[in-house]
Amino acid sequence: MEYWQAIVSLAALAIVGTLLLGWHDGWFRRAEAEPAAHPIHRVRRQSVVDNANYVGIAEVTRFAAMRRRIGYPAANRIMAALAARILADDRFEVGRLGRTGIEFFYRADHIAQAHAMMQDLKRRLEVTVTTTAIDFEPSIVIGCNSIRSGQLRDELFDAAACAVEDAQKLPERIRFAEDGRQRGGVDPSAMMLHNLYRAVRDDSLEMHYMPKLRLADSEIVSAEALCRWTHRDHGTVSPTIFIKLAEETGLIGDLTLWTLDRVIADQQRLRQEGIDLNIDINMSGQLIGDTGFCDLVIARIGASGGRIGIEITETAVIEDAQAALANLGRISQAGVRIAIDDFGVGLSSLAYLRDLPADELKIDQTFIRTLTTSNRDPLLVRSAIDIGHALEMEVTAEGVEDEIALALLKVMRVDHVQGYHISMPLPLDQLVRYLRGKAHLQILGDAAQLRASLSPLTIAATKR
Ligand code: C2E
Ligand code: MG
Ligand code: MG
Repeated sequence: MEYWQAIVSLAALAIVGTLLLGWHDGWFRRAEAEPAAHPIHRVRRQSVVDNANYVGIAEVTRFAAMRRRIGYPAANRIMAALAARILADDRFEVGRLGRTGIEFFYRADHIAQAHAMMQDLKRRLEVTVTTTAIDFEPSIVIGCNSIRSGQLRDELFDAAACAVEDAQKLPERIRFAEDGRQRGGVDPSAMMLHNLYRAVRDDSLEMHYMPKLRLADSEIVSAEALCRWTHRDHGTVSPTIFIKLAEETGLIGDLTLWTLDRVIADQQRLRQEGIDLNIDINMSGQLIGDTGFCDLVIARIGASGGRIGIEITETAVIEDAQAALANLGRISQAGVRIAIDDFGVGLSSLAYLRDLPADELKIDQTFIRTLTTSNRDPLLVRSAIDIGHALEMEVTAEGVEDEIALALLKVMRVDHVQGYHISMPLPLDQLVRYLRGKAHLQILGDAAQLRASLSPLTIAATKR
C-alpha cells in the first residue's frame, strides 16, 4: 500500500513539476486554450475537469514572505508538493499554480459533501513539507465556488478568490463564494439561507437528543439537544454548515430561540411520560455577548420551569469577554447550568476558565477519539479532568466511541460520558424508547469487565 502511495505521489510530483515549469513559462495558459497542443493534456484528468461542479483555490498563508526568505526554487518545490497532495485524491484535478495558491476542480453531490471534502483536503495539506531548504508547516485557507453553466473560467476563480479573502476571517478558514461578490447566477449559499430562514419560520427543523451517561450510577440524567435540518434538495445538512451560515447572517438568534422553545416543549412531553431529564442547548458565542438576547433566554427558561442548561464554546467568551462574562453571570444566577463545550480546542487561558461561572467542562471529542491510540492524549485528558475538578466543575468526555475509551475514562474519574458508544443523537420518540429500554445500565458493566482485562500498564498510565 505504502509502495503504491509512494509511486502515485512521485508521479503526481512529476506532473506538478511540469505544470509549474509550464506556468512559469506562460504556456500552461496557452495550453488551456489549445488542449490538444500540449503534452500535459495526455496526463490531465480531463474527465474530472469536465464533470467538476466546484472550483477551489488553496492559498498558503504568509507565503510571499516565506518565498523571499527561502528563495524561489525552494518555494516552488513546496507549491509542487502541495499540488501533488491535491492530486493524490483522484477526485481532484489541479489547474493553475500561482505563487501562493493552487487552483483546482472537483465534483461533489451537494454542498455538505463539498464542505466535508474541503475539510479533508485542508487537513491533508497542513502536514509538514520537508525540503532541503526547510521543514515547512503550511497554513491553508480555502475558497470555493460552484460551477454554473455559461460561467467563464476566470469568473469562477475570481469568486473563489473572494471566498479565500472571506475565509481568512473564519476560524475554519474554508468558505464558499457568496452572492454579490460574484457575477451572474443565483448563489447556492444565498438559496440555502433563504431555505434555512423558511425552515426556522415554518417549524420544519428538528431536534435530536444525545444522552449523557453519569458514570457514578450508570444513569442518564441529561441530554444534549442537537439541531437537524433536512434540505429539500441537498438532504441532511450538517449543523456545522447551517449553524455557521446562521451565525454569519444574523439568523442564529431566531434559530436558537426556536431550539429553546422546542426543547421546552419536548421536556414537558418527557415529563408527561414520567421521564425527568436535564436538557442542554448549544448557544453560539456571538449571542452570549448580546445582553437583550440573554435576558430573553433567562426569561423563557424561567417561565417554563424546566431544567435547561446551555453549552458554550470557550472561544465564544474570549471574543467579547466583558459582556459575555457579565451575561453568563446573570444566566448562572438565574439557576441555568452552564457547560464549557469543546474544551481543549479553543484558545482560552486558565484565567478565563477560572472566571467563568461554569458547572461543567466538556472535553472535546478530538482528544477522546484518539485516547486509546495516542501517547499524549491520555495525559492531556487526565490533566483536563484535574483542571475541571479543581474548578469544582463536573467533567464530561465527548466522542466516546468504544468500550476501551469508556473503561479508561472511568479509571480517570470522568463524571459523564457522551458519544456513539452510549447512543447516537435520537429523535424524541426514540429517546423515550432508549431510556425505557434501560440498555444504558449495561454499558458500564461491559466496561468494567474490559477494565479488568486491560493491561495493568495502560491503567497505570491513566491513574493519578
Ligand atoms: P457539539 O455541541 O460539540 O456537539 C457534539 C457533536 O459531536 C454532535 O455533532 C454529535 O453528533 C457529535 N458526536 C458526539 N459524539 C460523537 C461520537 O462519538 N463520534 C462522532 N463522530 N461524533 C460524535 P452534530 O450534531 O453534527 O453537531 C455539530 C455541532 O453543531 C455541535 O457541536 C454544535 O456546536 C453545533 N450545533 C448543533 N446543534 C446546534 C444548535 O441547535 N445550536 C447551535 N448554536 N449549535 C448547534
Ligand atoms: Mg455541544
Ligand atoms: Mg462539543
